[in-house]
Amino acid sequence: MSQAAAHAPAPAALAPAPIPLREVAPWALFAGVVLLALLYLVGLDQGATSVVPGEMLHEFMHDGRHLLGFPCH
Ligand SMILES: [Zn+2]
Repeated sequence: MSQAAAHAPAPAALAPAPIPLREVAPWALFAGVVLLALLYLVGLDQGATSVVPGEMLHEFMHDGRHLLGFPCH
């Protein structure tokens, strides 16, 4: 029997450290805003609600729109 096995740490010492919600919340909010902006640009930016005038953004996102199953034309 080896000495390392005899001195193995207790299971409680191996548990991951909890991450406080205050540290995660700003990053979760940031990721949510970025994802919503991306969702808008890929799926909804066209016609009367268009942020970027013209068809350039629509044509640029066209393949991604079809790939994600958004109704297009
Ligand atoms: Zn299309």
